[in-house]
Amino acid sequence: MSKNVFRMVDNTILKIYNNFPKLNKNLYTYLSKPQNEITVNFTVEIDRKLQNFTGYRIQHNNIMGPYKGGLRYHPNVEVNEVEALSKWMTYKNSLQDIPFGGAKGGLRIDPHQYNNVELKKISEKLTENIVNYIGPEKDIPAPDVGTNAEIMDCMTQKYLDITNTDNYGVFTGKSPNYGGSEFRKEATGTGVAVCIKEWAELKNIELKGKTYILQGLGNVGYYTAKKLKEYGLILIGIGNASGYKYHKEGYDIENIQEFIDKNDEDLCHYPIGKTIDKLGFFSINCDIVIPAALELQICEEEAKNIQAKLIVEAANGPIDEKGDEILNERNIEILPDILTNSGGVLCSYYEWLQNCNNVYYERYLLNQKLEDKFKEKVKQIFDLMEEENIQTMREACYYYSLKRLENEYIKRGYYLPN
Ligand code: GLU
Repeated sequence: MSKNVFRMVDNTILKIYNNFPKLNKNLYTYLSKPQNEITVNFTVEIDRKLQNFTGYRIQHNNIMGPYKGGLRYHPNVEVNEVEALSKWMTYKNSLQDIPFGGAKGGLRIDPHQYNNVELKKISEKLTENIVNYIGPEKDIPAPDVGTNAEIMDCMTQKYLDITNTDNYGVFTGKSPNYGGSEFRKEATGTGVAVCIKEWAELKNIELKGKTYILQGLGNVGYYTAKKLKEYGLILIGIGNASGYKYHKEGYDIENIQEFIDKNDEDLCHYPIGKTIDKLGFFSINCDIVIPAALELQICEEEAKNIQAKLIVEAANGPIDEKGDEILNERNIEILPDILTNSGGVLCSYYEWLQNCNNVYYERYLLNQKLEDKFKEKVKQIFDLMEEENIQTMREACYYYSLKRLENEYIKRGYYLPN
């Protein structure tokens, strides 16, 4: 499965270069491989037994600034997947004009199988093993699938202890008493919703009363739904790793969250609505589909059956290549991941600025900054599509991102023949 992701991100870039000869294709030589691929093997004592762990930190590119990207704890993590995710971070940061490069890390574990004390032990050991490769001006990890503020806190503490330094900006997504931002937890989901709002405004579409389905009830899915509720949208289908549900009259996100929190993420036994399968879920008649879980969820069959006119990629890489092709042919619009879910890393950037400069931004200010940034960016992408006659938002976002990277390489005097 991850092999597909691995090819997908590079195929997207190659397609962009083929379609837009104005971009300098030679840049791809610099971007096709990550600059550093760090693999660490270490041992932790769990329950009086020794266990082996393998961790990755893939540093794709740092022409724009320090490497930046999340750390994922998931049973399917493997090196090719982390590499693809690190590349997406480079393009995402460049798209949002953030002065960071791209990286990603991961541990192939199921975090649900460990208690908090064990997770802390594993995370501290991981920090010890990557300590020389990270730092506030080198590489700044953050949460991703399966990791959270508590894990960032203990890793930060470990890093500061080992290095005898005091800049909390070595990790972002920390809790507020570790220099974290009050807004970081909700930032990715809020960004997703704000992105939909800006898109609708530019298209003159009324969002109130529109229906949507949501795959993934983690941090991103939850805050997306919370914000969309404020805008008056109705959630009629939900799903997570345990299964899928449909309820035409609409779900209350807080109520669902309360249920799955109490029931070990089990959605199947949630009493409201009909239990359906994955294909049934993606076939629901609704206005918007929001995949907010993992990669490669919308493939050929799902793409053929989707009824909505808009898909919003809250997860990284949720639509595979075939799916993307079919959706484009069917004229179904896609708000691409590198734009849609960039609210997380945007807020991480503000958190890093706060830590490095010893300042504090209030929650409302961060919210405002994020809204302003998305408003400006979505408009910029719409304008670019018109100016350069670009058909899809995905292409326009990559066009913008690659152009910025190209300019930076040229500015710094790299060899880039025409
Ligand atoms: N893991 C998030 C992402 O995929 C956030 C990364 C960050 O904040 O550095 O964008």
